[in-house]
Amino acid sequence: MHVETLVIGAGPAGLTTAYELTKAGRSVAVVERDPIYVGGISRTVTYKGYRFDIGGHRFFSKSAEVEAWWTEIMGDEMLQRPRSSRIYYNGKLFDYPLRAMDALTKLGPVEAVRCVLSYAWAKMRPYRNVVSFEQWVVNNFGRRLFEIFFKTYTEKVWGMKCSEISADWAAQRIKGLNLYQAIIQSFGLGRKPEGGGEIIKTLINSFRYPRLGPGQMWERARDKIVAQGGKMMMGSTITDLSQHAATGQWVAIVTDATGRETKVTADHLVSTAAINELVRMLGADGEPDMQQATSGLRYRDFLIVGLIMRGKESFDDNWIYIHDPNVKVGRIQNFKSWSPDMVPDPDTACYGMEYFCNAGDDTWAMSDADLIARAKAEIGKLGLARAEDIIDGAVVRQPKAYPVYDDTYKVHVDTITEGLEARFRNLHLAGRNGMHKYNNQDHAMMTGMLTARNIIAGSIAYDVWTVNEDAEYHEGGNAGTDRIEDRLVPRRVA
Ligand SMILES: Cc1cc2nc3c(=O)[nH]c(=O)nc-3n(C[C@H](O)[C@H](O)[C@H](O)COP(=O)(O)OP(=O)(O)OC[C@H]3O[C@@H](n4cnc5c(N)ncnc54)[C@H](O)[C@@H]3O)c2cc1C
Repeated sequence: MHVETLVIGAGPAGLTTAYELTKAGRSVAVVERDPIYVGGISRTVTYKGYRFDIGGHRFFSKSAEVEAWWTEIMGDEMLQRPRSSRIYYNGKLFDYPLRAMDALTKLGPVEAVRCVLSYAWAKMRPYRNVVSFEQWVVNNFGRRLFEIFFKTYTEKVWGMKCSEISADWAAQRIKGLNLYQAIIQSFGLGRKPEGGGEIIKTLINSFRYPRLGPGQMWERARDKIVAQGGKMMMGSTITDLSQHAATGQWVAIVTDATGRETKVTADHLVSTAAINELVRMLGADGEPDMQQATSGLRYRDFLIVGLIMRGKESFDDNWIYIHDPNVKVGRIQNFKSWSPDMVPDPDTACYGMEYFCNAGDDTWAMSDADLIARAKAEIGKLGLARAEDIIDGAVVRQPKAYPVYDDTYKVHVDTITEGLEARFRNLHLAGRNGMHKYNNQDHAMMTGMLTARNIIAGSIAYDVWTVNEDAEYHEGGNAGTDRIEDRLVPRRVA
Protein backbone atom coordinates (compact mmCIF):
# COMPACT_ATOMS: atom_id res chain seq x y z
CA MET A 1 0.00 0.00 0.00
CA HIS A 2 1.28 3.49 -0.77
CA VAL A 3 -0.01 6.63 0.97
CA GLU A 4 1.30 10.17 1.02
CA THR A 5 1.30 10.20 4.85
CA LEU A 6 1.58 7.45 7.41
CA VAL A 7 0.50 8.51 10.90
CA ILE A 8 1.49 6.63 14.06
CA GLY A 9 -1.22 6.92 16.73
CA ALA A 10 -4.97 7.60 16.63
CA GLY A 11 -5.04 10.03 19.56
CA PRO A 12 -6.09 13.68 19.20
CA ALA A 13 -2.84 14.68 17.46
CA GLY A 14 -2.78 11.81 14.96
CA LEU A 15 -6.49 12.00 14.14
CA THR A 16 -6.42 15.78 13.72
CA THR A 17 -3.53 15.44 11.26
CA ALA A 18 -5.33 12.67 9.37
CA TYR A 19 -8.64 14.56 9.31
CA GLU A 20 -7.06 17.73 7.94
CA LEU A 21 -5.10 15.83 5.30
CA THR A 22 -7.99 13.67 4.09
CA LYS A 23 -10.25 16.73 4.02
CA ALA A 24 -7.73 18.28 1.61
CA GLY A 25 -7.94 15.14 -0.54
CA ARG A 26 -4.58 13.70 0.56
CA SER A 27 -4.02 9.98 1.15
CA VAL A 28 -3.38 8.85 4.72
CA ALA A 29 -3.09 5.65 6.76
CA VAL A 30 -3.20 5.70 10.58
CA VAL A 31 -1.56 2.89 12.58
CA GLU A 32 -3.06 2.49 16.05
CA ARG A 33 -1.89 -0.01 18.64
CA ASP A 34 -5.24 -0.25 20.41
CA PRO A 35 -7.52 -2.82 18.76
CA ILE A 36 -10.77 -0.98 19.64
CA TYR A 37 -10.40 2.54 20.91
CA VAL A 38 -9.33 5.72 19.20
CA GLY A 39 -8.61 8.88 21.19
CA GLY A 40 -5.48 7.74 23.06
CA ILE A 41 -5.46 9.21 26.57
CA SER A 42 -8.61 11.11 25.50
CA ARG A 43 -10.55 7.91 24.73
CA THR A 44 -13.77 6.91 26.47
CA VAL A 45 -13.83 3.36 27.71
CA THR A 46 -17.12 1.45 27.70
CA TYR A 47 -17.96 -1.16 30.31
CA LYS A 48 -21.46 -2.72 30.24
CA GLY A 49 -22.84 0.49 28.75
CA TYR A 50 -21.10 2.72 31.33
CA ARG A 51 -18.70 5.18 29.75
CA PHE A 52 -15.70 6.70 31.46
CA ASP A 53 -12.67 8.84 30.59
CA ILE A 54 -9.07 8.24 31.52
CA GLY A 55 -9.51 11.03 34.05
CA GLY A 56 -12.20 13.58 33.24
CA HIS A 57 -11.46 15.47 30.01
CA ARG A 58 -12.66 19.05 29.85
CA PHE A 59 -12.76 20.67 26.42
CA PHE A 60 -11.73 24.28 26.51
CA SER A 61 -9.24 26.17 24.44
CA LYS A 62 -8.05 29.70 23.94
CA SER A 63 -7.67 28.75 20.27
CA ALA A 64 -10.79 29.71 18.29
CA GLU A 65 -9.62 27.30 15.59
CA VAL A 66 -9.63 24.33 17.92
CA GLU A 67 -13.02 25.30 19.36
CA ALA A 68 -14.42 25.57 15.81
CA TRP A 69 -12.94 22.15 14.95
CA TRP A 70 -14.73 20.55 17.89
CA THR A 71 -18.01 22.11 16.74
CA GLU A 72 -17.40 20.95 13.17
CA ILE A 73 -16.95 17.36 14.33
CA MET A 74 -19.62 17.21 17.04
CA GLY A 75 -22.34 19.72 16.05
CA ASP A 76 -24.97 19.95 18.77
CA GLU A 77 -23.67 16.82 20.52
CA MET A 78 -21.07 19.13 22.08
CA LEU A 79 -22.52 20.12 25.44
CA GLN A 80 -21.72 23.14 27.59
CA ARG A 81 -21.43 21.74 31.12
CA PRO A 82 -21.20 23.44 34.49
CA ARG A 83 -18.00 22.81 36.41
CA SER A 84 -17.96 21.96 40.03
CA SER A 85 -15.15 20.39 42.01
CA ARG A 86 -14.33 20.34 45.69
CA ILE A 87 -11.63 19.21 48.06
CA TYR A 88 -12.22 16.35 50.48
CA TYR A 89 -10.44 16.65 53.81
CA ASN A 90 -11.23 15.08 57.15
CA GLY A 91 -14.77 14.03 56.18
CA LYS A 92 -15.73 17.46 54.76
CA LEU A 93 -15.99 18.94 51.29
CA PHE A 94 -14.32 22.31 50.84
CA ASP A 95 -15.05 24.75 48.01
CA TYR A 96 -12.56 24.74 45.20
CA PRO A 97 -11.08 27.22 44.40
CA LEU A 98 -10.57 27.64 48.15
CA ARG A 99 -12.52 30.39 49.89
CA ALA A 100 -11.04 31.44 53.20
CA MET A 101 -14.31 31.70 55.13
CA ASP A 102 -15.63 28.39 53.80
CA ALA A 103 -12.31 26.75 54.66
CA LEU A 104 -12.05 28.19 58.15
CA THR A 105 -15.72 27.45 58.96
CA LYS A 106 -15.48 23.83 57.84
CA LEU A 107 -12.21 23.26 59.63
CA GLY A 108 -13.97 24.20 62.87
CA PRO A 109 -12.92 26.78 65.49
CA VAL A 110 -10.02 24.81 67.01
CA GLU A 111 -8.38 23.95 63.68
CA ALA A 112 -9.15 27.46 62.37
CA VAL A 113 -7.28 28.99 65.30
CA ARG A 114 -4.38 26.60 64.74
CA CYS A 115 -4.27 27.61 61.05
CA VAL A 116 -4.29 31.30 61.87
CA LEU A 117 -1.60 30.85 64.56
CA SER A 118 0.58 28.76 62.29
CA TYR A 119 0.13 31.42 59.58
CA ALA A 120 1.16 34.13 62.06
CA TRP A 121 4.15 32.02 63.10
CA ALA A 122 5.22 31.56 59.49
CA LYS A 123 5.03 35.32 58.96
CA MET A 124 7.16 35.95 62.07
CA ARG A 125 9.65 33.15 61.43
CA PRO A 126 9.70 32.52 57.66
CA TYR A 127 12.21 30.26 55.94
CA ARG A 128 14.90 32.62 54.73
CA ASN A 129 16.43 30.58 51.94
CA VAL A 130 13.36 29.17 50.19
CA VAL A 131 14.25 26.31 47.86
CA SER A 132 11.36 23.85 48.17
CA PHE A 133 7.63 23.89 47.43
CA GLU A 134 7.01 23.02 51.09
CA GLN A 135 8.99 26.02 52.35
CA TRP A 136 7.31 28.37 49.91
CA VAL A 137 3.79 27.28 50.84
CA VAL A 138 4.53 27.24 54.58
CA ASN A 139 5.90 30.80 54.34
CA ASN A 140 2.82 31.99 52.50
CA PHE A 141 0.02 30.01 54.17
CA GLY A 142 1.43 28.54 57.38
CA ARG A 143 2.26 24.90 58.10
CA ARG A 144 -1.25 23.79 59.07
CA LEU A 145 -2.81 24.95 55.79
CA PHE A 146 0.12 23.44 53.88
CA GLU A 147 -0.53 20.07 55.50
CA ILE A 148 -4.27 20.22 54.93
CA PHE A 149 -4.59 21.67 51.43
CA PHE A 150 -1.29 21.24 49.61
CA LYS A 151 0.87 18.37 50.83
CA THR A 152 -1.15 15.19 50.35
CA TYR A 153 -2.62 15.78 46.90
CA THR A 154 0.61 17.19 45.42
CA GLU A 155 2.58 14.19 46.68
CA LYS A 156 -0.03 11.73 45.33
CA VAL A 157 0.01 13.24 41.85
CA TRP A 158 3.73 13.72 41.42
CA GLY A 159 5.07 10.88 43.54
CA MET A 160 7.62 13.27 45.09
CA LYS A 161 7.81 14.78 48.56
CA CYS A 162 6.92 18.48 48.71
CA SER A 163 10.32 19.09 50.29
CA GLU A 164 11.91 17.72 47.08
CA ILE A 165 9.84 19.87 44.70
CA SER A 166 11.45 23.13 43.67
CA ALA A 167 9.94 26.37 45.00
CA ASP A 168 9.61 28.06 41.58
CA TRP A 169 6.66 25.86 40.70
CA ALA A 170 4.71 27.14 43.70
CA ALA A 171 5.84 30.68 43.10
CA GLN A 172 4.57 30.55 39.50
CA ARG A 173 1.43 28.58 40.18
CA ILE A 174 0.10 30.07 43.35
CA LYS A 175 1.46 33.54 42.67
CA GLY A 176 -0.75 36.38 43.87
CA LEU A 177 -2.65 34.18 46.29
CA ASN A 178 -2.07 34.73 49.95
CA LEU A 179 -4.18 34.03 52.94
CA TYR A 180 -4.51 37.64 53.93
CA GLN A 181 -5.76 38.61 50.48
CA ALA A 182 -8.07 35.58 50.40
CA ILE A 183 -9.64 36.49 53.75
CA ILE A 184 -10.07 40.13 52.73
CA GLN A 185 -11.60 39.12 49.40
CA SER A 186 -13.98 36.61 50.94
CA PHE A 187 -15.49 39.57 52.84
CA GLY A 188 -15.97 41.31 49.49
CA LEU A 189 -13.18 43.78 50.27
CA GLY A 190 -9.86 44.42 48.59
CA ARG A 191 -8.95 44.87 44.97
CA LYS A 192 -10.68 42.85 42.25
CA PRO A 193 -8.45 40.88 39.87
CA GLU A 194 -7.36 43.08 36.99
CA GLY A 195 -8.90 42.64 33.49
CA GLY A 196 -10.19 39.37 32.04
CA GLY A 197 -11.83 38.37 35.30
CA GLU A 198 -15.06 37.45 33.56
CA ILE A 199 -13.35 35.28 30.96
CA ILE A 200 -11.36 33.47 33.59
CA LYS A 201 -14.53 32.95 35.59
CA THR A 202 -16.31 31.50 32.58
CA LEU A 203 -13.44 29.14 31.87
CA ILE A 204 -13.46 28.02 35.45
CA ASN A 205 -17.22 27.68 35.79
CA SER A 206 -18.02 25.73 32.66
CA PHE A 207 -16.49 23.69 29.88
CA ARG A 208 -17.53 21.87 26.72
CA TYR A 209 -17.92 18.11 26.69
CA PRO A 210 -19.16 15.62 24.07
CA ARG A 211 -22.47 14.04 25.12
CA LEU A 212 -20.89 10.57 25.23
CA GLY A 213 -17.47 11.59 26.49
CA PRO A 214 -14.25 12.60 24.72
CA GLY A 215 -14.08 9.27 22.90
CA GLN A 216 -17.20 10.27 20.94
CA MET A 217 -15.24 13.19 19.45
CA TRP A 218 -12.46 10.89 18.33
CA GLU A 219 -14.78 8.11 17.09
CA ARG A 220 -16.55 10.69 14.93
CA ALA A 221 -13.24 12.06 13.67
CA ARG A 222 -12.20 8.49 12.78
CA ASP A 223 -15.45 7.89 10.86
CA LYS A 224 -15.01 11.14 8.95
CA ILE A 225 -11.40 10.28 8.11
CA VAL A 226 -12.56 6.93 6.70
CA ALA A 227 -15.41 8.63 4.80
CA GLN A 228 -12.82 11.04 3.35
CA GLY A 229 -10.76 8.08 2.10
CA GLY A 230 -8.30 7.58 4.98
CA LYS A 231 -7.27 4.12 6.15
CA MET A 232 -7.36 3.09 9.82
CA MET A 233 -5.12 0.18 10.83
CA MET A 234 -6.31 -0.73 14.33
CA GLY A 235 -4.63 -3.16 16.72
CA SER A 236 -1.44 -2.68 14.72
CA THR A 237 2.15 -1.62 15.26
CA ILE A 238 5.08 -0.93 13.02
CA THR A 239 7.52 -3.81 13.32
CA ASP A 240 10.05 -2.54 10.82
CA LEU A 241 10.64 1.04 9.76
CA SER A 242 13.19 2.59 7.46
CA GLN A 243 13.68 5.42 5.02
CA HIS A 244 15.10 4.89 1.56
CA ALA A 245 18.31 6.93 1.51
CA ALA A 246 17.99 8.11 -2.11
CA THR A 247 14.25 8.65 -2.55
CA GLY A 248 13.39 9.55 1.05
CA GLN A 249 10.43 7.19 0.87
CA TRP A 250 9.36 5.62 4.16
CA VAL A 251 8.92 1.85 4.25
CA ALA A 252 6.97 0.39 7.16
CA ILE A 253 5.93 -3.13 7.99
CA VAL A 254 2.65 -2.85 9.85
CA THR A 255 1.76 -5.95 11.83
CA ASP A 256 -1.71 -6.58 13.25
CA ALA A 257 -2.75 -8.67 16.26
CA THR A 258 -3.02 -11.84 14.15
CA GLY A 259 0.55 -11.37 12.91
CA ARG A 260 -0.55 -10.35 9.42
CA GLU A 261 1.98 -7.98 7.86
CA THR A 262 1.26 -5.13 5.46
CA LYS A 263 4.02 -3.21 3.74
CA VAL A 264 3.19 0.49 3.63
CA THR A 265 5.25 3.06 1.77
CA ALA A 266 4.79 6.76 2.43
CA ASP A 267 6.28 10.14 1.55
CA HIS A 268 5.74 11.54 5.05
CA LEU A 269 5.77 9.94 8.49
CA VAL A 270 3.93 11.65 11.35
CA SER A 271 4.65 10.17 14.77
CA THR A 272 2.60 10.77 17.91
CA ALA A 273 4.16 7.72 19.63
CA ALA A 274 6.43 8.47 22.60
CA ILE A 275 9.63 9.87 21.11
CA ASN A 276 11.86 7.32 22.78
CA GLU A 277 9.73 4.54 21.24
CA LEU A 278 10.02 6.16 17.84
CA VAL A 279 13.80 6.33 18.12
CA ARG A 280 13.87 2.62 18.91
CA MET A 281 11.45 1.87 16.05
CA LEU A 282 13.81 3.68 13.70
CA GLY A 283 16.81 1.82 15.10
CA ALA A 284 18.33 5.26 15.81
CA ASP A 285 19.29 4.49 19.40
CA GLY A 286 22.70 3.00 18.54
CA GLU A 287 24.70 6.17 19.26
CA PRO A 288 25.55 6.56 22.97
CA ASP A 289 24.00 10.05 23.22
CA MET A 290 20.74 8.90 21.58
CA GLN A 291 20.72 5.83 23.83
CA GLN A 292 21.20 7.97 26.92
CA ALA A 293 18.52 10.42 25.81
CA THR A 294 15.91 7.76 25.03
CA SER A 295 16.44 5.89 28.27
CA GLY A 296 16.59 9.16 30.23
CA LEU A 297 13.05 10.34 29.44
CA ARG A 298 10.66 9.55 32.26
CA TYR A 299 6.86 9.27 32.58
CA ARG A 300 4.26 9.18 35.32
CA ASP A 301 1.63 6.50 34.82
CA PHE A 302 -1.98 6.40 35.86
CA LEU A 303 -4.88 4.04 36.41
CA ILE A 304 -8.55 4.56 36.93
CA VAL A 305 -10.99 2.22 38.63
CA GLY A 306 -14.54 2.71 37.36
CA LEU A 307 -17.02 1.86 40.10
CA ILE A 308 -20.71 1.33 39.36
CA MET A 309 -22.99 2.17 42.25
CA ARG A 310 -26.63 1.41 42.87
CA GLY A 311 -28.69 4.45 43.89
CA LYS A 312 -28.11 8.18 43.87
CA GLU A 313 -24.60 9.61 44.16
CA SER A 314 -23.74 11.55 47.28
CA PHE A 315 -22.25 14.57 45.42
CA ASP A 316 -22.94 16.38 42.15
CA ASP A 317 -19.41 17.64 41.52
CA ASN A 318 -17.60 16.57 38.35
CA TRP A 319 -14.70 15.53 40.51
CA ILE A 320 -13.34 15.72 44.04
CA TYR A 321 -9.71 16.11 45.05
CA ILE A 322 -8.88 13.73 47.87
CA HIS A 323 -6.57 15.37 50.41
CA ASP A 324 -6.82 12.50 52.84
CA PRO A 325 -3.48 10.79 53.48
CA ASN A 326 -5.22 7.61 54.70
CA VAL A 327 -6.32 6.56 51.20
CA LYS A 328 -4.32 6.19 47.99
CA VAL A 329 -6.99 7.54 45.64
CA GLY A 330 -6.03 11.02 44.36
CA ARG A 331 -9.22 12.22 42.69
CA ILE A 332 -12.74 10.86 42.23
CA GLN A 333 -14.72 11.52 39.04
CA ASN A 334 -18.50 11.46 38.96
CA PHE A 335 -19.22 10.72 35.30
CA LYS A 336 -22.95 11.39 35.42
CA SER A 337 -22.13 15.03 36.22
CA TRP A 338 -19.95 15.26 33.13
CA SER A 339 -22.88 14.09 30.99
CA PRO A 340 -25.96 12.17 32.18
CA ASP A 341 -25.63 9.96 29.09
CA MET A 342 -22.37 8.48 30.40
CA VAL A 343 -24.52 6.28 32.66
CA PRO A 344 -27.09 3.97 30.99
CA ASP A 345 -29.26 3.39 34.05
CA PRO A 346 -30.35 6.60 35.85
CA ASP A 347 -30.82 4.65 39.07
CA THR A 348 -27.08 4.03 39.20
CA ALA A 349 -23.93 6.18 39.28
CA CYS A 350 -20.43 5.70 37.91
CA TYR A 351 -17.36 6.96 39.76
CA GLY A 352 -13.79 7.04 38.50
CA MET A 353 -11.24 6.47 41.26
CA GLU A 354 -7.94 7.91 40.00
CA TYR A 355 -4.60 6.51 41.12
CA PHE A 356 -1.36 8.23 40.10
CA CYS A 357 1.43 5.65 40.00
CA ASN A 358 4.48 4.36 38.19
CA ALA A 359 4.26 1.32 35.91
CA GLY A 360 5.55 -1.62 37.91
CA ASP A 361 4.98 -0.13 41.39
CA ASP A 362 2.76 -1.76 44.02
CA THR A 363 -0.44 -0.10 42.80
CA TRP A 364 0.21 -0.82 39.13
CA ALA A 365 1.10 -4.44 39.88
CA MET A 366 -2.16 -5.18 41.76
CA SER A 367 -4.72 -7.41 40.04
CA ASP A 368 -7.89 -5.77 38.72
CA ALA A 369 -9.95 -7.57 41.36
CA ASP A 370 -7.71 -6.23 44.16
CA LEU A 371 -7.79 -2.71 42.73
CA ILE A 372 -11.59 -2.78 42.58
CA ALA A 373 -11.71 -4.08 46.16
CA ARG A 374 -9.35 -1.30 47.28
CA ALA A 375 -11.31 1.40 45.44
CA LYS A 376 -14.56 0.13 46.94
CA ALA A 377 -13.08 0.10 50.45
CA GLU A 378 -11.58 3.58 50.01
CA ILE A 379 -14.78 5.23 48.76
CA GLY A 380 -16.58 3.62 51.73
CA LYS A 381 -13.92 4.85 54.16
CA LEU A 382 -14.26 8.38 52.79
CA GLY A 383 -18.02 8.17 53.32
CA LEU A 384 -18.73 9.15 49.70
CA ALA A 385 -20.55 5.86 49.00
CA ARG A 386 -21.46 2.74 50.93
CA ALA A 387 -19.15 -0.08 49.85
CA GLU A 388 -22.16 -2.47 49.74
CA ASP A 389 -23.85 -0.24 47.10
CA ILE A 390 -20.96 -0.72 44.66
CA ILE A 391 -22.19 -3.43 42.32
CA ASP A 392 -19.45 -3.65 39.73
CA GLY A 393 -16.16 -2.18 38.59
CA ALA A 394 -13.52 -2.08 35.87
CA VAL A 395 -9.86 -1.04 35.73
CA VAL A 396 -8.12 0.90 32.97
CA ARG A 397 -4.36 1.36 33.04
CA GLN A 398 -2.71 4.23 31.19
CA PRO A 399 1.03 3.97 30.78
CA LYS A 400 2.92 7.20 29.96
CA ALA A 401 0.02 9.39 31.07
CA TYR A 402 2.32 12.29 31.98
CA PRO A 403 5.66 13.06 30.34
CA VAL A 404 7.89 14.06 33.25
CA TYR A 405 9.84 17.32 33.22
CA ASP A 406 12.89 16.60 35.33
CA ASP A 407 16.21 18.41 35.26
CA THR A 408 17.47 16.60 32.19
CA TYR A 409 14.40 16.11 30.02
CA LYS A 410 14.98 19.19 27.85
CA VAL A 411 18.51 18.16 26.99
CA HIS A 412 17.26 14.66 26.11
CA VAL A 413 14.46 15.98 23.89
CA ASP A 414 16.89 18.29 22.10
CA THR A 415 19.38 15.45 21.57
CA ILE A 416 16.65 13.25 20.12
CA THR A 417 15.11 15.86 17.83
CA GLU A 418 18.50 17.01 16.54
CA GLY A 419 19.58 13.39 15.98
CA LEU A 420 16.38 12.59 14.09
CA GLU A 421 16.50 15.78 12.02
CA ALA A 422 20.06 15.01 10.96
CA ARG A 423 19.19 11.50 9.79
CA PHE A 424 15.66 11.60 8.46
CA ARG A 425 13.62 13.75 6.11
CA ASN A 426 9.88 14.20 6.06
CA LEU A 427 9.56 13.00 9.63
CA HIS A 428 7.09 15.03 11.69
CA LEU A 429 6.75 14.79 15.48
CA ALA A 430 3.39 15.80 16.96
CA GLY A 431 1.32 15.50 20.14
CA ARG A 432 1.93 14.99 23.83
CA ASN A 433 4.34 12.07 24.14
CA GLY A 434 5.29 12.55 20.49
CA MET A 435 6.99 15.81 21.55
CA HIS A 436 7.32 15.01 25.27
CA LYS A 437 5.04 17.94 26.18
CA TYR A 438 2.76 17.84 29.18
CA ASN A 439 -0.13 19.65 27.53
CA ASN A 440 -3.82 19.30 26.81
CA GLN A 441 -5.76 18.01 23.82
CA ASP A 442 -5.96 21.42 22.17
CA HIS A 443 -2.18 21.69 22.14
CA ALA A 444 -1.81 18.18 20.71
CA MET A 445 -4.42 19.02 18.05
CA MET A 446 -2.76 22.29 17.09
CA THR A 447 0.53 20.48 16.47
CA GLY A 448 -1.45 18.05 14.26
CA MET A 449 -3.14 20.89 12.35
CA LEU A 450 0.17 22.62 11.64
CA THR A 451 1.79 19.35 10.60
CA ALA A 452 -1.00 18.78 8.07
CA ARG A 453 -0.48 22.31 6.75
CA ASN A 454 3.24 21.68 6.34
CA ILE A 455 2.59 18.47 4.41
CA ILE A 456 0.03 20.15 2.17
CA ALA A 457 2.38 23.09 1.55
CA GLY A 458 5.32 20.77 0.90
CA SER A 459 7.54 22.81 3.21
CA ILE A 460 8.01 23.44 6.92
CA ALA A 461 6.07 26.69 7.02
CA TYR A 462 5.07 26.17 10.66
CA ASP A 463 7.32 25.11 13.52
CA VAL A 464 5.16 22.92 15.79
CA TRP A 465 7.56 23.53 18.68
CA THR A 466 6.37 27.11 18.88
CA VAL A 467 2.80 26.15 19.80
CA ASN A 468 2.36 27.22 23.41
CA GLU A 469 0.29 25.52 26.11
CA ASP A 470 -2.72 27.64 25.13
CA ALA A 471 -2.53 26.09 21.66
CA GLU A 472 -1.49 29.41 20.16
CA TYR A 473 1.02 29.43 17.37
CA HIS A 474 3.73 32.06 17.70
CA GLU A 475 5.54 32.94 14.52
CA GLY A 476 9.27 32.83 15.28
CA GLY A 477 8.76 31.64 18.85
CA ASN A 478 7.99 33.47 22.02
CA ALA A 479 10.08 36.55 22.76
CA GLY A 480 12.92 35.34 20.58
CA THR A 481 13.12 31.76 21.86
CA ASP A 482 12.35 29.06 19.35
CA ARG A 483 10.93 26.56 21.83
CA ILE A 484 7.98 27.62 23.89
CA GLU A 485 7.85 27.02 27.62
CA ASP A 486 5.46 24.26 28.52
CA ARG A 487 2.83 23.94 31.15
CA LEU A 488 4.14 24.42 34.66
CA VAL A 489 5.05 21.23 36.42
CA PRO A 490 7.10 20.66 39.53
CA ARG A 491 10.83 20.13 39.27
CA ARG A 492 13.15 18.68 41.86
CA VAL A 493 15.05 20.97 44.18
CA ALA A 494 18.43 21.51 42.53
C1 LIG B 1 -5.62 12.15 33.87
C2 LIG B 1 -5.58 13.04 32.66
C3 LIG B 1 -6.54 14.03 32.53
C4 LIG B 1 -6.53 14.87 31.41
N1 LIG B 1 -7.49 15.84 31.32
C5 LIG B 1 -7.53 16.63 30.22
C6 LIG B 1 -8.55 17.60 30.08
O1 LIG B 1 -9.38 17.80 30.98
N2 LIG B 1 -8.59 18.33 28.93
C7 LIG B 1 -7.69 18.14 27.91
O2 LIG B 1 -7.80 18.78 26.87
N3 LIG B 1 -6.69 17.23 28.04
C8 LIG B 1 -6.58 16.48 29.15
N4 LIG B 1 -5.58 15.55 29.28
C9 LIG B 1 -4.53 15.49 28.23
C10 LIG B 1 -4.95 14.70 26.98
O3 LIG B 1 -5.34 13.41 27.37
C11 LIG B 1 -3.78 14.64 26.01
O4 LIG B 1 -3.25 15.94 25.82
C12 LIG B 1 -4.12 14.10 24.62
O5 LIG B 1 -4.79 12.87 24.65
C13 LIG B 1 -2.82 13.95 23.83
O6 LIG B 1 -3.10 13.51 22.54
P1 LIG B 1 -1.99 12.79 21.63
O7 LIG B 1 -2.65 12.39 20.37
O8 LIG B 1 -0.81 13.64 21.57
O9 LIG B 1 -1.52 11.53 22.47
P2 LIG B 1 -2.30 10.26 23.07
O10 LIG B 1 -3.62 10.66 23.60
O11 LIG B 1 -1.31 9.63 23.98
O12 LIG B 1 -2.53 9.31 21.80
C14 LIG B 1 -1.47 8.62 21.22
C15 LIG B 1 -2.03 7.42 20.48
O13 LIG B 1 -0.98 6.75 19.81
C16 LIG B 1 -1.05 5.36 20.03
N5 LIG B 1 0.33 4.84 19.95
C17 LIG B 1 1.38 5.17 20.73
N6 LIG B 1 2.48 4.50 20.34
C18 LIG B 1 2.13 3.75 19.28
C19 LIG B 1 2.83 2.85 18.44
N7 LIG B 1 4.13 2.63 18.61
N8 LIG B 1 2.14 2.25 17.44
C20 LIG B 1 0.81 2.47 17.27
N9 LIG B 1 0.10 3.31 18.03
C21 LIG B 1 0.76 3.94 19.02
C22 LIG B 1 -1.64 5.23 21.41
O14 LIG B 1 -2.25 3.95 21.59
C23 LIG B 1 -2.66 6.37 21.41
O15 LIG B 1 -3.90 5.96 20.89
C24 LIG B 1 -5.54 14.71 30.40
C25 LIG B 1 -4.58 13.70 30.53
C26 LIG B 1 -4.59 12.89 31.66
C27 LIG B 1 -3.53 11.83 31.81
